[in-house]
Amino acid sequence: MTGQDHPRIAFAYADELSEYQLSPQHPLQPIRLKHMHELMQATGLIDLPNISSPHPRSATRGEIESAHDLDYVFNVSAVSDGSLLPDTSKFGLGTSDNPIWTGMYDTTALCVGTTLTASELVMSGKADIGFAPAGGVHHHAMRRYASGFGIFNDAVIAMNAMVNAGLRIAYVDIDCHHGDGVQAGYYDSDQVLTISIHESGQWLFPGTGRVQEIGEYDGLGYSVNIPLAPYTQDPEWHAAFDEVITPLIKTFKPDVLFTQLGIDTHFQDPLTHISLTTQGFNLAIKKLAKLGFEIGKWVAVGGGGYDLSAVARSWTMALATMANFNLPKEVPAAFKSFKGLTKFADQPPARNESPYLAEIQQFNSKTLDEVRTLIFPKFRI
Ligand SMILES: [Zn+2]
Repeated sequence: MTGQDHPRIAFAYADELSEYQLSPQHPLQPIRLKHMHELMQATGLIDLPNISSPHPRSATRGEIESAHDLDYVFNVSAVSDGSLLPDTSKFGLGTSDNPIWTGMYDTTALCVGTTLTASELVMSGKADIGFAPAGGVHHHAMRRYASGFGIFNDAVIAMNAMVNAGLRIAYVDIDCHHGDGVQAGYYDSDQVLTISIHESGQWLFPGTGRVQEIGEYDGLGYSVNIPLAPYTQDPEWHAAFDEVITPLIKTFKPDVLFTQLGIDTHFQDPLTHISLTTQGFNLAIKKLAKLGFEIGKWVAVGGGGYDLSAVARSWTMALATMANFNLPKEVPAAFKSFKGLTKFADQPPARNESPYLAEIQQFNSKTLDEVRTLIFPKFRI
């Protein structure tokens, strides 16, 4: 990067990505991005000279097919135009998590395109950091089926282009759910180190992400999972981050850092049970920014996040951290009527009382012991 003080940031976003509904009751409300963008505008962040807002392009069919089977892509495209096809359920389409909606293909291709636009500007050296908050939410999408709100896996599609260019990538997924679709995309590859820190699959979708899922063939040791106990709070979450993620990335020495910044780890998130605050999340962004500065290329995408206030505040704080911009403590006046939102930082939830806290620490420490045993020797840590 050209300078730690004023890195050049490409912020790839399109209003169309907040203007649709998957289904009336769906927990993923695209309007969350509109609130986020308005908050970023109200703070003046978007107008900073080192933040550019390139208009994103859509992903091409060929790019989507680099990560997905042809018959799956064909089915998404056909049902998106209203065609009734037999057997869409075998592709995970038409479920409550992944309902079929008109325009699904084009909107998803644009969403993937925001990730590609951010990624290309970093790859070409025109930006030090690319941030595409609409991306990342597709991290459960598999090669031939939709899953967990994910249709086309934008992270895999963008990283495929980097892999083809001979680059080595560290993918860090801090979403509350296991990044199973991205892990599956590179399970036999040593060119992409995938690290997912998440609530254990014992309690949360998709049920995978055990430490023992360490990759196969050339990828043995390059798939890293850090499952944590429900109700893990900032200190214990960061202890796991510091113990595993920082040393692994420093040892792997990737050409690119690619991060998925889901904020469904928030203590008010309605779908999950990890208990991070917005400031705990932002501390992770500060650590990733330091790593990104050392590596020189950082692409960041969004992810899950189902509490609208947490999403708007956290990703605004993330962009401010990337830009080295000091946000005020209070959110701008126009937002104070929005869900009682007054400050960027949260009042942390009460510390868990023993023995509950002890159980959390015991569970997480077992996870870290297993990672140390199964993964660290491969990297001579
Ligand atoms: Zn999630």
